[in-house]
Amino acid sequence: MSGAHPIPRRALRADLLDFTGDPGLGAPGLGMVRHRPDHWLLIEHGRIAAVQPGARPPGPDWLCEDHRGQLLTPGLIDTHVHSVQLDVIASYGSELLDWLERYTFPAEARHADAAHAREQAETFADALLAHGTTSAVVFPSVHATSVDALFGAAQRRGMRLITGKVLMDRHAPEGLRDDVSQAQAQCQALIARWHGTDRLAYAVTPRFAATSTPEQLAMAGALLQLHAGVYMQTHVAESRAEVAWIARLFPEARSYLDVYHRAGLLNERAVLAHGIWLDDADRKLLADTGAQVAHSPSSNLFLGSGLFDWQAMVDARAEVSLASDVGGGTSLSMLRTMADAYRVQALRGVRLSAFKALHSATLGAARALKLEHEIGSLEPGRIADVTLWDWAAGSVARSRDALARDLHERLFAWMMLADERNLVTTLVAGRTQYKRRGNDAGALES
Ligand SMILES: [Zn+2]
Repeated sequence: MSGAHPIPRRALRADLLDFTGDPGLGAPGLGMVRHRPDHWLLIEHGRIAAVQPGARPPGPDWLCEDHRGQLLTPGLIDTHVHSVQLDVIASYGSELLDWLERYTFPAEARHADAAHAREQAETFADALLAHGTTSAVVFPSVHATSVDALFGAAQRRGMRLITGKVLMDRHAPEGLRDDVSQAQAQCQALIARWHGTDRLAYAVTPRFAATSTPEQLAMAGALLQLHAGVYMQTHVAESRAEVAWIARLFPEARSYLDVYHRAGLLNERAVLAHGIWLDDADRKLLADTGAQVAHSPSSNLFLGSGLFDWQAMVDARAEVSLASDVGGGTSLSMLRTMADAYRVQALRGVRLSAFKALHSATLGAARALKLEHEIGSLEPGRIADVTLWDWAAGSVARSRDALARDLHERLFAWMMLADERNLVTTLVAGRTQYKRRGNDAGALES
C-alpha cells in the first residue's frame, strides 16, 4: 500500500449488476435489482467514484477498459470457508463427525509448520480471487501460525478478510488441542496484531460446541465483551448426530444454539455455519441477537447433512448469507454455491431466484456482516472490489444465453451454468488481483 505507485483513475465499461435491497425468496422481481447494461464504472483511489452510461465515456485522464457484453458485479463474499482444508476437498465417503476425524484433523495438523501454513495461505488467497471471491470469513487451524499466514496473505492482496485462531480444547487429536489460558493469550496477541489493520478483522473462532469445554466457550464470550467489533464464527446444527452429541454434552442448554447464547457468543457479528437443525425458538434467537447463518449448500449436499430451511429463516427475520464451506463444500466458486443453494431449496419446494442468490453473496452478506458501507454493491464510495464475467462460455451456455428472454432468465442460466472459468478479472480495491490468461472460452469448447 505504498504511495510510490499511485492507483490510476480507472474506468470499466460493462453490464453492471448489483442490488439496492433484498429481492426476497420466491418469484423473481426486479424491485431491488439494479441492472445497468453498458455503463462505465469509474474507480478512483481504490473506491467506486461514479457510474455513467456507456455513451458518455470519462475524460482523457481515465484509464478506460472496454468490456462491453460482459457482466460486472460486486466482488463475491464467502462467509464460511476453511483455508486449511483445500487438501481434503472432495474426500470420499463420510458424514460430518467421521469426516473430521479421517480427513480434516490430519490436514489441519500440518499447519503447525509455519512454512506449510504460509504456502497454503498464499495458495488459498489466490484461489479465492480466481473464483471471484474478494471477501471471506475463514477458519484457519488451531495454530497461531495459520492465522498470521492467512492475515498476511490477505493483507498483501488488499482483501477484506475475517478470521481467527480455531479454539479446540477437547475432543480433538493431540497437536490440535489448546487450553483455555494458552488460547486466551494467543487470541489477545492476534487481536492486537491484526484486528482493524487494513481490511482485516479478527473472529473469535470456537470450532463447535463439542470441541470446546464450557470454560473455553466462556473465555470466548469474555473476549467478545472485551473487544468491540471483533467477530465470532462457529458451526451450529449441521448434522443430526452432531446435534445429539451436543445435547449430551450440554444437558442444561435448551438447544445447540443456546449453548452459544449462554456463553455470550451471539451478537450481530456472529457467523454460524449451517443451521440446518434449528427450531423456531432458535431462529427467533438469531433474529433477536442479529447473528447470521452462513448457509453452505454444497457442503450440506456432499456430507448429506440435511436441507436448510431458508424460508423459516426469512419468516423469523433472521439473516442468511451464502458460503462454500470448502473442504466440506466441493468448490470455492460462489456460483457453484448459488446453484447448489437453488437445488437445496428446490428439494424443499422453494424456488430460489438468481437475484436472491446473488444478493446473498454480495449486498446481503455485506449487510449481515455490518460491512455494507465498504463492500457488496457498486454504490459510489464503496471500495472497488469488483468481478467481471463472461455471461456464457462454451457453445451450450452461449446458445442458452442468446435465448434468454429477460434479465432473470439470463442471470439464472449464468448462475447454473457458469463457474470460475467465466471469470475474466477480479479487482480488489481497484487493483487487478486476478486476470484470466488467454481466451478461456476456448478451453470450454469441445
Ligand atoms: Zn465449516
